[in-house]
Amino acid sequence: MDLGIKGRRALVCASSKGLGRACAEALAAEGVHVTMTARGADALATAAAALRKAYPDVEVLEVAGDITTREGRAAALQACPEPDILINNAGGPPPGNFRDWTRDDWIKALDANMLTPIELIKATVDKMIERKFGRIVNITSAAVKAPIDVLGLSNGARTGLTGFVAGLSRKTVRHNVTINALLPGPFDTDRLRGVAAGQAKASGTTPEQILQARMNENPAGRFGDPEEFGLACAFLCGARSGYITGQNILLDGGAFPGTL
Ligand code: NAP
Repeated sequence: MDLGIKGRRALVCASSKGLGRACAEALAAEGVHVTMTARGADALATAAAALRKAYPDVEVLEVAGDITTREGRAAALQACPEPDILINNAGGPPPGNFRDWTRDDWIKALDANMLTPIELIKATVDKMIERKFGRIVNITSAAVKAPIDVLGLSNGARTGLTGFVAGLSRKTVRHNVTINALLPGPFDTDRLRGVAAGQAKASGTTPEQILQARMNENPAGRFGDPEEFGLACAFLCGARSGYITGQNILLDGGAFPGTL
């Protein structure tokens, strides 16, 4: 299926690995020029090189930096000042007990998972409106729909972003600029494996046992493949997806048990 976005420009934040990388790949496969970001320059260079090799007609730019900082965002926007497509992503906050979190912990989580996407939307959305095309996808979490107790920082920050976007996305859609969120359940990425390693250490089991138990409890009996996530992202960015806005789309193998 040709999504009709060949030649468009995308800024894909936090994309050297995992879900962000899969989004960059799926967009590049559609002929979209991508600017990729991550803090670690080496992994970013490797990911960008792989995309250039696979899609030689696509321009792939890489910007090493922390997207949750003012400088990181400025560098990303300097490389890709007027994206047609913006994929907001960053690492998730750490787990813990809310009694231990300081105001600074909260500010850090809000900065990363709420205010950074809002800043990037603010910097790009008006030009999208002028050009009558824009697709913004925020990578949030299934925790927006069903909070995870130990991830209070994530629950709070991401739900704040979701509330803001719910309003704005109804204002921009008239101009063919959509804003949606993809809510990952468990996807097989470094983050998921890192969390499993931590849980195994704390509970005296092995990471493999933790991972197997988590797969078994999912209705699909497996983790999501990042490629599946990237394809869903590309679909939302498609030329004919202009009637989908303000949505929070779960990709969780059916783990959320509600009817709606
Ligand atoms: P991942 O495999 O650890 O990849 C994270 C990517 O983001 C890496 O490229 C990382 O590179 C980059 N990154 C992290 N913090 C960054 C920052 N401040 N600035 C720029 N780049 C940054 O993680 P993932 O599984 O793809 O997760 C992506 C998002 O989805 C996270 O917010 C996560 O909490 C959320 N999520 C994931 C799952 C899941 O099962 N995988 C489930 C629910 C929610 P550097 O470290 O080099 O910067």
